[in-house]
Amino acid sequence: MITNDKTIEILKAIADRIEEQKDYLTELDNEIADGDHGVNMAKGFNAVAAKLPSMAGKDIGFMLKTTGMTLVSTVGGSAGPLYGTAFMKAGAVMKDKMEIDGSDLITALEAAIGGIKMRGKATTGEKTMLDAICPAYDAMKASIGDGEDMKTAVGKAVEAARAGVEYTKTIKATKGRASYIGDRSIGHQDPGATSSLYMFEVLLEHI
Ligand code: ADP
Ligand code: MG
Repeated sequence: MITNDKTIEILKAIADRIEEQKDYLTELDNEIADGDHGVNMAKGFNAVAAKLPSMAGKDIGFMLKTTGMTLVSTVGGSAGPLYGTAFMKAGAVMKDKMEIDGSDLITALEAAIGGIKMRGKATTGEKTMLDAICPAYDAMKASIGDGEDMKTAVGKAVEAARAGVEYTKTIKATKGRASYIGDRSIGHQDPGATSSLYMFEVLLEHI
């Protein structure tokens, strides 16, 4: 189970990880696009971190929704609105929940992916965050379906996300700014898939 208190701890840890990896994410974005992914994400998650004290005692749906709204309103570019929509959609399906289990996590992730796809009109294989998130979702769903516990399921999600990040190096970007350079994007790791991997890693560390 992940409680509401734990959710605050996880959101804080995501903000810390993003801040730590800010320069690296920006460097990855610089190789294929405009070099602002780390800056964008750090700006958004620092704003989220500042709101965490006011979320204490609230339900997880509220926390995720507030996170999403904060990302949408503080981050320019594409990743802010995309992650923002993802968290807002996850928040909507976790409304009123004070703790969530493995099957809730799948429901939340499914809603998040739906939000990203709706907003960005991308699918897997286009060198985006979806290439980390979708395989992670599939792995988690299969694991929970097999009756494995949440920690095992999230562990498998991390492995799948990591493989997804590696896969982004082999394909060309067909969505987002990186698509402007076409074939020259091959060989480079997608920054958004990388920031998604960090979120799964942090989740695993806190379960
Ligand atoms: P911008 O591209 O506006 O500069 P960022 O640099 O913050 O925004 O984010 C870039 C990341 O956003 C990419 O690495 C990719 O993972 C993700 N991304 C871009 N476009 C899309 C899309 N249409 N759908 C899903 N993810 C996308
Ligand atoms: Mg960028």
